[in-house]
Amino acid sequence: MAHPVANSVVVRVPGKINLQLSVGPKEADGFHGVVTVFQSISLYDDVTVTKVEIGAGLSLNISGDHVHSVPTDETNLAWRAAILMCQKHDLSADLRIDINKSIPVAGGMAGGSADAAATILAIDALFSLGQTREELHHVGAQLGSDVPFMLSGGTAVGRGRGDQVTAALSRGTYHWVLALSTLGLSTPAVYAECDRLREGMKVATPQVSDHLLQALLAADPQALGKSLVNDLQAAACSLRPALRLILDVGSEYGALGSIVSGSGPTVAFLVTDEDQALDLAVALTSSGVVGSVTRVSGPVPGARVTEVH
Ligand code: ATP
Repeated sequence: MAHPVANSVVVRVPGKINLQLSVGPKEADGFHGVVTVFQSISLYDDVTVTKVEIGAGLSLNISGDHVHSVPTDETNLAWRAAILMCQKHDLSADLRIDINKSIPVAGGMAGGSADAAATILAIDALFSLGQTREELHHVGAQLGSDVPFMLSGGTAVGRGRGDQVTAALSRGTYHWVLALSTLGLSTPAVYAECDRLREGMKVATPQVSDHLLQALLAADPQALGKSLVNDLQAAACSLRPALRLILDVGSEYGALGSIVSGSGPTVAFLVTDEDQALDLAVALTSSGVVGSVTRVSGPVPGARVTEVH
């Protein structure tokens, strides 16, 4: 039986936090080698890609909170993903992309990369391209180092620029409280501040933390809380001193671990269960130092098709 032709595909894609982000020395091209452990968490963008009339071209709309700073032109990562997929498969890009954002913008949760991953998957489904996971990852890696992980999700170790992804063995579900900020931090600015703070220091080649991998394998949130590490945290706090106050509130209320996610400014608190998550969310909200708070869990699967019309 022939497959009915799809006109529109919706892909749901989660944001990520970094349980470990170890940053190596600045390389000759200005970039840094990293070792990171990603975890996808239950905060999602929904990306809909719809075929439009021939010759209409590509358009992009964004809805959701705090999206005023997100471009709707060819600089949007989802737009670039669509162009790349259409060029690769010789398709005309007569498409509309609608992004409904919940992942904070410039929040260190790879929202732009998530939307790119979702667009790649949506176009694969919309045109029944049947690409393998490796082929989709390959396209993703051309757009940004976090994109391959956003396609697979779960828990994974990223090496190189974060784009060489291997799945990590992780058991159990972890509960997180996220302190979100409406004002993002620029990733390049945070790396530059990290370089400034490290001036004159000898920086070691980063290694994945055995303690952290053991904690994930053992489904041990206490041990995981003690193993969280982010080399960009000092730089993010230096640029945004209020982050230290937010981290302190989490420690006072007994979070198992507290960490700035990626380049920030999102702060992630690991808690024992949903009850503690609620208590900490209330404490953070009433502290007055946090823009908004949300409770999530992880790991969750990466980008996946949720609707086909
Ligand atoms: P990075 O992936 O660089 O670590 P981030 O996760 O902190 O960044 P993003 O939400 O991906 O933050 O946004 C970084 C910048 O990328 C935004 O300020 C915006 O100008 C641009 N951008 C391009 N496309 C998107 C998109 N689809 N969603 C959000 N931002 C986008």
